[in-house]
Amino acid sequence: MTATYTLDAGEIRKQFPFFQPHPEMRSVIYLDNAATTQKPYAVIEAVSHFWAHHNANVHRGGHGAGAKASELYEAARARVAQFINAREPAEVVFTRGTTEAINLVASSWGETFVNTGDEIIVTEMEHHANLLPWMRLAEKRGAHLKVWRITDDGRLDLEALDRLLTERTRLVAVSHVSNVLGTVNPVAEICQRAHAAGALCLVDAAQSIAHMPIDVQAIDCDFLAFSGHKAYGPTGIGVLYAKRALLETMPPYQVGGGMVQVVRWERLVWAEPPAKFEAGTPPIGEAIGLHAALDFIDSIGRDAIERYERELTEYALQRLQEVPDLRLYGPIPDRAGIFAFTLGDIHPHDIATVLDTRDVAIRSGLHCAHPLGERLGGATARASLAIYNDTQHIDALIDALDEVRRVFGLARA
Ligand code: PLP
Repeated sequence: MTATYTLDAGEIRKQFPFFQPHPEMRSVIYLDNAATTQKPYAVIEAVSHFWAHHNANVHRGGHGAGAKASELYEAARARVAQFINAREPAEVVFTRGTTEAINLVASSWGETFVNTGDEIIVTEMEHHANLLPWMRLAEKRGAHLKVWRITDDGRLDLEALDRLLTERTRLVAVSHVSNVLGTVNPVAEICQRAHAAGALCLVDAAQSIAHMPIDVQAIDCDFLAFSGHKAYGPTGIGVLYAKRALLETMPPYQVGGGMVQVVRWERLVWAEPPAKFEAGTPPIGEAIGLHAALDFIDSIGRDAIERYERELTEYALQRLQEVPDLRLYGPIPDRAGIFAFTLGDIHPHDIATVLDTRDVAIRSGLHCAHPLGERLGGATARASLAIYNDTQHIDALIDALDEVRRVFGLARA
């Protein structure tokens, strides 16, 4: 079968130092992109240029360098706002990552607006980042955590959501793309149903931000969170998008420098959002790196990325299903490029270890989604794609899986 692919991943790899030969590194086939993506030169250079030439604290110094750093930091915020189609940059709060963004919502909004007897709906496929903050909040506030179970093929059934929603539901927390199953959830419809019941909707976009266009106004989510490092950007930077009206009503998450207008012994006046939620020196260089990462993504084009990754996902699905004894989890064929699987009764850690000897990097375990792991029957191996992967990488994975079968005596003589 010859298929034509709409992007040349080999050309894209040239933009990444990780894929260039280096004496300190074996060259690897990197299929652990759901954990973190590699960084293009453009991101590394933007961060390094900032540290080398523009380093100063933001919103503080009365000097030119401080003004320039502030300008670059705020330009990064405006770029994020444009990237996700927020109504204004003030709806973008910089955090350390998805985890911190969701903790911010659970602490600030949750502890203010969720009361005894209220309900929060989470799905069975959530990463701990979008699960534990809600479990803890429910415990603290005497609220009920309701679990929206997945179907046997790893999807969410919207009618089941309607049965869970009541007038006591305050929030539906859902991932856009599952980090285990690759399921792409219909988040706009989910938000619409949540709103119809009078609840808010939070979307965890950690696994979608780099892989498909995202428009927060079209989704009409109340909150959306993502991490820079899963979108070709630096670690230590993430985003909480929230509707302005909500940010206005929410108290600060942390308090300290940079988030307050008036501090008198008898009176405190918080700064306007987003500053109200950014206490202390923010991750300035990291925000600038995120700006460069979003530029990198748009230089390829989000529609083009989505189309190419869909083609590659189809190829991967076809090849993975050819492997004897391999059990693939999640919906087929309609899914993102994240493939959790088991191979006979070989422990997933052993699969990953043998693959590593063939320089194929994947992840194994419960993927920070223990309740989902329980539903699936335990740990899985997971391969996940990004824009620089191609069919040769999938072929290398399949060959390495043959080696695993041979090593563990599953291969026919
Ligand atoms: N949500 C999902 C779906 C994820 O896959 C991850 C990370 O794997 C997170 C949240 C947490 O992201 P971070 O560790 O960058 O905060």
